[in-house]
Amino acid sequence: MKQLEDAVFHRDLTKNYPIITHGKGIYLYDECGKEYIDASSGAVAANLGHSNKKIAQAMFDQASKVGFVHTMRFETEVLHQLATKIVQLAPSTLNKVYFTSGGSEANESAIKLARQYHRDKGNKDKQIVIGRWQSYHGNTLGSLSVGGDVKRRKPYTANLIKTEHIYSPYCHQCPYEYEEEACIRQNNLACANDLARKITELGAENVSAVIMEPIVGSQQGAVVPPKGYFKRVREICDQNDIVLIIDEVMTGFGRTGTNFAIEQFGIEPDIMTFGKGISAGYAPLAGMIVNDKIVDGIIKNSAGQFVHGFTYSGHPVLAATGLAALEVYEEESVLENCQHVSKYVFECLEQLKEASKIISDVRGRGLLIGIELVKDKEKNILFDPKEQVANRVNTSAMDLGAVFYPGSGGIDGLYGEHLIVSPPLNITKKEIDKMVSILTEAIHLVEEELFK
Ligand code: PLP
Repeated sequence: MKQLEDAVFHRDLTKNYPIITHGKGIYLYDECGKEYIDASSGAVAANLGHSNKKIAQAMFDQASKVGFVHTMRFETEVLHQLATKIVQLAPSTLNKVYFTSGGSEANESAIKLARQYHRDKGNKDKQIVIGRWQSYHGNTLGSLSVGGDVKRRKPYTANLIKTEHIYSPYCHQCPYEYEEEACIRQNNLACANDLARKITELGAENVSAVIMEPIVGSQQGAVVPPKGYFKRVREICDQNDIVLIIDEVMTGFGRTGTNFAIEQFGIEPDIMTFGKGISAGYAPLAGMIVNDKIVDGIIKNSAGQFVHGFTYSGHPVLAATGLAALEVYEEESVLENCQHVSKYVFECLEQLKEASKIISDVRGRGLLIGIELVKDKEKNILFDPKEQVANRVNTSAMDLGAVFYPGSGGIDGLYGEHLIVSPPLNITKKEIDKMVSILTEAIHLVEEELFK
């Protein structure tokens, strides 16, 4: 027998993480009995909190009936039920669901579907995908290529697929150097018009798809685009026969106060990817919802064959998990709770911002809220990323009993540090008070260290 102290290949092999033994509602408990408020819902996935009995039972029941069938040969009823439910929630033109096990796979699938759609229609050169620098779409080589996580992209530069990037809007610190008020008054939207410039530069005949998060999550900390942004993006895609992929992996299923964040911007994409919230983190379930134009194209030009597939696409236990999670969202009016408590969290965090030396911005929608951390609020001077301020706030919060989602740097440190506050969507006001009080103390402790 091999003697190993620890066989797990940790995310950081130099660290030991607390061993979680169980969870209940918004709380996680480690083996020493320490309690943590899961103020980030894990990686913004555990939208319904922990140990939900209905979801656990549904997983057990399905595994007891049939645990796996290969969707190259068979399907299950639960898969059809889940797809129908998702389509009912989705924007009106999106009518077919393709399942994967994770968000990266979902985006990878969307990119391939868009490229196949154009290729089989006879536009073989229409292959480049345009993404944005401030974005994250996953860690497989295709999804990494369209995303903007510079640190993760760098070691694979030679292996990335041919993609192009523009900047995503960030009115707090506009990459196009516009004053927010002036931009809104003049309806300038340089950020959206840059997409048209990029397409002209590349030639529309070479561009297959554009991929965007509706509200940028981990790379920017819940940044909401300005009014009119997505209408202009939709218009540009339509004018150039380009597939618009909206990545709702983080934002989908109520996280931002509507079923899908894109609803808030008045457009419908051609493909919408989802993950995380669909199973509320109980199982690795994700996928894409596709509109009739693309589905009809695949039927007509590709004999119905999407040249793709995963062993676990449409896995029955995952499907049963998703179906049960969607039922819990509905039965417990989770979306309504998110809308209701969101205002309260924003009020609390605005107060914290006023009292803090380092919080310069509080933004987001629903319960996807970003807090920008800077060295000097008046002059908007950023922290040196080496100072790891967001990580330090989170470490301090974890000591005090709450875990948040820190992020840093953006493109080569061009943007500041941030922390995402994204508790389970069924959190109560009393629990919010406890979460905010821990965050307040954590910020205070780090400020003391920074300005001593
Ligand atoms: N897209 C977005 C917007 C995400 O936030 C993530 C993960 O954080 C992904 C895609 C990748 O999803 P996964 O980690 O499930 O592959």
